[in-house]
Amino acid sequence: MANEVWVVLQHREGQISRISWETVGAAQKLAATLGSKAEAVLLGSGVGLAAAEVAKSDLAAVHVADHDALRAYTPGAYIGALASTIQSAAPAFVVFPHTYQTVDYMARLAQAVGAGLLPQVTAFQGEGGDLLWTRPVMSGKLQAKVRVKGEGTVLVSVQSGAFPADGVVRGEAPVKPLEVDLAAVKPDREILGYEEVGGDTVDLTKAEIIVAVGRGVGGADKMAPVEALAKALGAEIGASRPVIDNGWLPRDRQIGSSGQTVAPKLYVAAGISGAIQHLVGMKGSSVIVAINKDPGAPIFTVADYGIVGDLHEVLPALTEAVRAAKG
Ligand SMILES: Cc1cc2nc3c(=O)[nH]c(=O)nc-3n(C[C@H](O)[C@H](O)[C@H](O)COP(=O)(O)OP(=O)(O)OC[C@H]3O[C@@H](n4cnc5c(N)ncnc54)[C@H](O)[C@@H]3O)c2cc1C
Repeated sequence: MANEVWVVLQHREGQISRISWETVGAAQKLAATLGSKAEAVLLGSGVGLAAAEVAKSDLAAVHVADHDALRAYTPGAYIGALASTIQSAAPAFVVFPHTYQTVDYMARLAQAVGAGLLPQVTAFQGEGGDLLWTRPVMSGKLQAKVRVKGEGTVLVSVQSGAFPADGVVRGEAPVKPLEVDLAAVKPDREILGYEEVGGDTVDLTKAEIIVAVGRGVGGADKMAPVEALAKALGAEIGASRPVIDNGWLPRDRQIGSSGQTVAPKLYVAAGISGAIQHLVGMKGSSVIVAINKDPGAPIFTVADYGIVGDLHEVLPALTEAVRAAKG
């Protein structure tokens, strides 16, 4: 088995994302399992400081492609910078953070270089000279054990929260230019700008009680029982990502790997399945009450109290009980 492991880092204007550090830790662990040392790859423009920060890790090298065409992420430029280098160096594994950005280009990159694709892994273990990978399927209801067949490079993406960001082994690595013809790298989209989500954001990290709602609520017009329970408990309202993506609640209510990380005294999760990206943002709560009509929903694995039922019946009953208890 070839043993070279690369890790491609994601950053925003030179700020390395938390999930990228998690991925560096995963790549180091993978390389150690294979008896090698991981190498990092950083794409961007003016990323010298970020490269220096990454170089304080136990890596064989930090390869940097610093070019104006890579100033903003575009799939065309990223694939242009990575495809020929992966093809010529043929590492065993190229590890990426599992993010919306990598989901956007990894499959195309795998196709361009003829590599295998193993997205969203949460764990791996060496098994008799082979590797056994774990990844969620069926919206996290099942964990699949996967073995890669065949030869050649495999592109792997690492699920957020699966490896600790503070698990990176520190050290000193040389910074080198990535061996690629950057003149041939062309962005395939024009980025007109970024819009920060800001304004009067709610700080859910300070809330002592949170009533969080998921896609199971069924729509923006069906929030009344959630609001009533939150009011009765004196709680803030939180949400899973689909609720935000559907525009049912504003983005500052999102809890999870790409939202806020909370640890209230009481967390009520209603109509939330319990995908790992949600769990990483709330599993530190002192008491978790989960309401879901599916008894097999993964949220029940972290719940202290589980109620199997329709949230539109359970929440009003809980609200009544809270009001009665408060007199
Ligand atoms: C890079 C990335 C980042 C992400 N970041 C986040 C994040 O920060 N936060 C986050 O939450 N997700 C995040 N996700 C999405 C995540 O993977 C899941 O898709 C999401 O958490 C699922 O949300 P949900 O549980 O509300 O919806 P679903 O998975 O659709 O689950 C809905 C649940 O509601 C139940 N239900 C349906 N009707 C009722 C009813 N009437 N009464 C009771 N129960 C009912 C169903 O049984 C089901 O379990 C991210 C994904 C990616 C790829």
